[in-house]
Amino acid sequence: MSRQLKILHNFSECTVIINEEGKIEYANPAMENTFGYRPIELVGRSINILVPNTKSHVHQNYLTKYFKNPKDRKMGAGKELYGVHKSGITIPIEVSLSYLEVDGKRMSMAIVIDISERKKILDELSYSQSLYLSLVENTTDHILQIDRKLNVLYINHVSPGLTREQVIGSSFLDLIPGEEMKKKVQNTLRNVFEKGKPDSYELEFYSPVGLLHYVTTANPVIEHGKVRGINLVTRDMTKDMNLKNELVKQQKFIEKIDNFSINGIYIYDLKENRITYINKRFEEILGYNMNEINEMSAEKLVESFNKDETEKVHKFIAEVSRIKPGKSMTNEFRLRNKNGDRVWCLTNNSGFQYDDEGNVLTVIGAFIDITQQKNVEESLLMKNIEMENFAFRASHDLKSPLNSIIQGLTLIIDNKKMDEDSKIEIQEQIIHSAHRMGEMVNSLLAHAQIDTKQDIEDIDCNTIIKEVEIDLKSLITENKARIKYKDLPIVSGVKALIRILLQNLVSNSIKYKGENRKPLIEIIASEQVDYWLFICKDNGMGIMSENLERIFELFDRAGANSGISGSGIGLANCKKIVKVHGGEIWVESEFGKGSNFYFTISKPENYVSGRTKRVNSLSEESK
Ligand code: ADP
Repeated sequence: MSRQLKILHNFSECTVIINEEGKIEYANPAMENTFGYRPIELVGRSINILVPNTKSHVHQNYLTKYFKNPKDRKMGAGKELYGVHKSGITIPIEVSLSYLEVDGKRMSMAIVIDISERKKILDELSYSQSLYLSLVENTTDHILQIDRKLNVLYINHVSPGLTREQVIGSSFLDLIPGEEMKKKVQNTLRNVFEKGKPDSYELEFYSPVGLLHYVTTANPVIEHGKVRGINLVTRDMTKDMNLKNELVKQQKFIEKIDNFSINGIYIYDLKENRITYINKRFEEILGYNMNEINEMSAEKLVESFNKDETEKVHKFIAEVSRIKPGKSMTNEFRLRNKNGDRVWCLTNNSGFQYDDEGNVLTVIGAFIDITQQKNVEESLLMKNIEMENFAFRASHDLKSPLNSIIQGLTLIIDNKKMDEDSKIEIQEQIIHSAHRMGEMVNSLLAHAQIDTKQDIEDIDCNTIIKEVEIDLKSLITENKARIKYKDLPIVSGVKALIRILLQNLVSNSIKYKGENRKPLIEIIASEQVDYWLFICKDNGMGIMSENLERIFELFDRAGANSGISGSGIGLANCKKIVKVHGGEIWVESEFGKGSNFYFTISKPENYVSGRTKRVNSLSEESK
């Protein structure tokens, strides 16, 4: 035996020889690599030492059976076999058995192969295979493979009402509804077969559950340069399409808001502190486009739009950040547009997007331009104040001549024995006061009428002064006054009013002349960018500095003119006339030396489009 066994000694596979009782007669050194035992430790021991405990009983039966019908074969065909290592670890093995008779003894030689590595690879392979299958089988997409005849070779799952067996082997086109769609599919598939390049098609058809939309990609299966079949992946895109249609609808809606809304609309991101959306009307009202808005930091936004009311804006942002869904806030803001002009806006803001905790993320706001309305409101307010002043002063100033009339009449009635001369004197005073009252009423009416709608025309100021000279002829001659003027401009305005203005100034300069000086009046006009600046200079008595402003008030006579007749309404009229012509009036004076009355008249274009915003008549603004 030892000679035969020498061959087995160098054999790289584990080899053991056992006798009919299951005792190990021989083990080669390779056994140690797999089982940890040296041959010497195994010889003479039961083979059960290498068999898992649970199997040792079965193994014994197996051995008995084997020796009844001994032949060369694989052990435990189809079953998983395990051996036990010296350390107790079980090892997956494969065993080949051969029958031997050595020295007349029946024996079995087992060649044992450790298949741990192979098993590991197989296990991994089967895992990835099942993973792959489960992916393919369970995906909601339909995955199919078809051959050149368009017959289905594989399908991962089928639609309700069909079985896989029915589908596999049948024509793929049978699954496509409608002749037209069948044609479309056939053409695409033919194309893939011909060109060997992937392609795709979309199908849309009505079903009891509504319009369905499927998209299929077709990839050629190429073998030895030839297209053998096609892999098809069909995805149900109905939901995506519905979503897409909904989006398109929304987009159209937004486009409408964008282009045709009478409201300026914006979306403000509270976290980023910036405007993320504006519509066309926003741009029209405030002058900025989206690119310019995008470039604005939070500070710049407030500075550009709300320079005049930053505090109000910060308060507003704090409030709108807490706005509940479904609620809105209405505010008026005095914004500035890109040109720096004031634009009054009436805004309505509400929460647009909220986070899961109900915090406002973005705010949507709509606004309208109410500048015109506000201007009217403002001028009405001014008018009211003016009216109140007017009524107060008029009633107050009319009272003094009225009081003297009442006093005079009371004196005459109560004093029956009054001598004729005194009576005549009082009667004259009464008549004088009554005239004064009449004059005051007339001037008041004239003042009130400055507002009446009147047409604008081009006025040559040189002609006006000439007319004034004629009207004031006796005053001029009486006082030996001189009026100097040269090349006065043509201005746009209401002729009658401009004449009153210049006549008042000229007549005052003569009336309030300086002591021992012949009145000299000089009228100069200089052209500025938007208006004409007029100066009416005189060498008169001058005005005390504390009276420089009040003389333009209704009925104010500055108290320094005793003996000079007047009603204190002339300069109030001048002020009003200048105002309706979009200008200003003021005076500089040195008491005792003379005065310079300044006034401005806007140029015609400013009546139309400029700051004065007057279109057809002066009174538009003062309404
Ligand atoms: P009236 O001349 O009827 O008093 P005005 O309104 O024309 O009323 O003038 C108001 C006051 O202003 C005058 O009473 C006078 O005190 C002062 N004033 C007006 N024009 C001049 C002037 N050129 N020089 C000095 N004082 C003037």
